[in-house]
Amino acid sequence: MYIADETWPDLGDYFADESVALVPLGSTEQHGPHLPLATDHLIAEAYAREAARRTGYLCTPTINIGVSPHHKQFHGTMWVDAPVFREYVESFTRNLTYHGIDRVIYVNAHGGNVEHLREVGRRLRDEKELYAIEWMWNESIPDMVDELFTQNGPHGGPKETAMIQYLAPELVKNDRLEDAREGGIPDVEAAETVKYGSRTFYDAADNTSNGVLGDQTDATAKKGEQMFEAATEQLVKLCQWLDSQEFHALMPTPHV
Ligand SMILES: [Zn+2]
Repeated sequence: MYIADETWPDLGDYFADESVALVPLGSTEQHGPHLPLATDHLIAEAYAREAARRTGYLCTPTINIGVSPHHKQFHGTMWVDAPVFREYVESFTRNLTYHGIDRVIYVNAHGGNVEHLREVGRRLRDEKELYAIEWMWNESIPDMVDELFTQNGPHGGPKETAMIQYLAPELVKNDRLEDAREGGIPDVEAAETVKYGSRTFYDAADNTSNGVLGDQTDATAKKGEQMFEAATEQLVKLCQWLDSQEFHALMPTPHV
């Protein structure tokens, strides 16, 4: 069920019986010469909507702009500062609680959002407001991702390329896959940006001139479909697990 397509009386019926919501979050940021800026939010939205369709749980609108200052040097990248993002996510999550939601899955497809979503989830749980957890599609199927690609990326690599080839093929510049590989770097280690144990870079532009990593020619829509099916299955199971828990069991353990 997609919240924005429903009327308020029909939503009343949902909140009377159910208390789970899926919130898709991504970014609007550069993904190399071959993928659209929408890459992360398209992926997050597809997973959240499909899991909601299969289970009947509620899906909210997608948060399209995330924490992406590390991609700012590339044309068009949009971002909000981390504290603003955390406040915003916390605020609309509290709104859901007001309607009766007490467990939320942040269906996230942008690495830069992870630590902030975890922080918001911690705050809300510490207050016993609700239980919110972060889910990242590729983390749910690590073995499959490793098997499908020699160098999976991460950013703008074949893993994300395959997802967009499957979900929105009209937005992929397939004639630029070789350029993407040649102009980028194979992996973060190749850029030698860790010095004596310290990570010395802040921005994608510090280690890659076209913004991406990995071998994009390794991507196919078929691989995208395979990952989409497998990770959606994981997300469906996560929804069902979350729904089956007693609320008090999801709350913090009391002080010893
Ligand atoms: Zn991405």
